[in-house]
Amino acid sequence: MASEPRPLSPTYIHIKNASVITVDATAGVLSNCDVLLENDAIRATGPNLDVPSDVSLTVIDATNCIVVPGFVNGHHHLWQHLIRGVSTDWSLFDYLVSIRSLYGSVYTADDVELAYYAGALDLLNNGVTCILEHSHIINSPEHADAAIRGLKKLAQRVRDARRVREVHFTNNNPAEELLTFGIAPTEPESQPLDETVRQILLSRDLGARITTMHVAMGPYDTAHQEVVQHLANEHILGPDLVFSHGASLTDSELDSIRSTGAGVVSTPDTELQMGMGFPVAFRATDKGCNACLGLDITSNQGNDFMTQMRLALQVQRAVDNQGGLPLAIRRKTAEVLRMGTLGGAEVLRVDHLVGSIAVGKKADLVIFRCDDISTLPVHDPTATVIFHTSSANIDTVIVNGRIVKKDGRLVGADWPSVRSAVLSQSERIKAQAAKVDLGAARAKWLEVFFSATVMLTATRSSVDFCVYRLDLHMKIVLILRVVVRK
Ligand SMILES: [Zn+2]
Repeated sequence: MASEPRPLSPTYIHIKNASVITVDATAGVLSNCDVLLENDAIRATGPNLDVPSDVSLTVIDATNCIVVPGFVNGHHHLWQHLIRGVSTDWSLFDYLVSIRSLYGSVYTADDVELAYYAGALDLLNNGVTCILEHSHIINSPEHADAAIRGLKKLAQRVRDARRVREVHFTNNNPAEELLTFGIAPTEPESQPLDETVRQILLSRDLGARITTMHVAMGPYDTAHQEVVQHLANEHILGPDLVFSHGASLTDSELDSIRSTGAGVVSTPDTELQMGMGFPVAFRATDKGCNACLGLDITSNQGNDFMTQMRLALQVQRAVDNQGGLPLAIRRKTAEVLRMGTLGGAEVLRVDHLVGSIAVGKKADLVIFRCDDISTLPVHDPTATVIFHTSSANIDTVIVNGRIVKKDGRLVGADWPSVRSAVLSQSERIKAQAAKVDLGAARAKWLEVFFSATVMLTATRSSVDFCVYRLDLHMKIVLILRVVVRK
């Protein structure tokens, strides 16, 4: 799966006269600014840029537009795109019972491929150009292949992880490949600590670029194992480890995350709803950690990344405002935009490639058209993006120098056929899920949940409803390339 060969003559995109939020500490926000893209990279920024003559050129008049780096989503489960909205009144316990033991068990490989494809289209539509996908639907090798197919068109157990790495990811370099390989170990809070250590070492042996796991989920952290502390004590933390959620991470654990360059991902919508505690992202950045935001599950909320950024900011402000008369607001809007772009790139170890608008970086950009009733007037471009926009304002999305959304519409997607497949396959999943004895599943989970001893061994004996395997970090332009070819 090599990247597309570079065209013989360079291709240019000239974005003219925009407000450009670079998310670069030196460059800041630039008004009346052009951005020139050459092939897959940013070639120049500045006013009234010259363009070479006799080249393939696309001009985008970005007057009244705001350009930002593509959003980076640090935690996601794409397979749930076919069961959107089923979990909006659930706790984390309800979620574990129904998603893991019920819906997950009726998904076929075909369902996985379709969900990955449709879900990734929706992410692109929302300006999300880079994600860390934690895939825990790898019920069989066929499910693993289907997930990758869904993304190209857009573990299993160790043996299959090795197969996937060797077959699909011979070159795992994100500078050259849009889709790279990582591992999600078995849930670390449901197995002995030393087993997690063993699986991390195994992930590194397999050449995983990222190893990601759910940890320290607030009140749900019932066993208080302090997984991260254990990994720190074992001197195994490193920049390849990404911890999702983490509301109950201790200060000592955050210090270890900072000093070793590991990353933390908060997913505000699900953490706030499901009882996982208050998002840790700002507490983590206060400590100097790499921290970012994730969308998590589309069985719950949609893929609007601006909503997640706003939610993260406002909840942290509410926490900060407790206990006194807040005459000034400490957290600034630009901080959360950074978290949703460059911060995500740092966590995913691609900040040398994406996350900000700077010459030489990859051309992953989002252009918001801000001349409608919901966005005018623009006094502060950062405020407009975080507080006033939605996917409806996203005019253009560019990934790796390729336009994947144009004039507010996805490019190349055969929406009528995707829509009919999503409708029919999601209906079948719903009907099959309705036949499962939810009471029995719930009783089994309760038994596991309130017995720490059982909890440590349950995953091994209950693999029928615990399917946690491979994950993939990828930039999702691959999906659109295949659509174009269909
Ligand atoms: Zn998750």
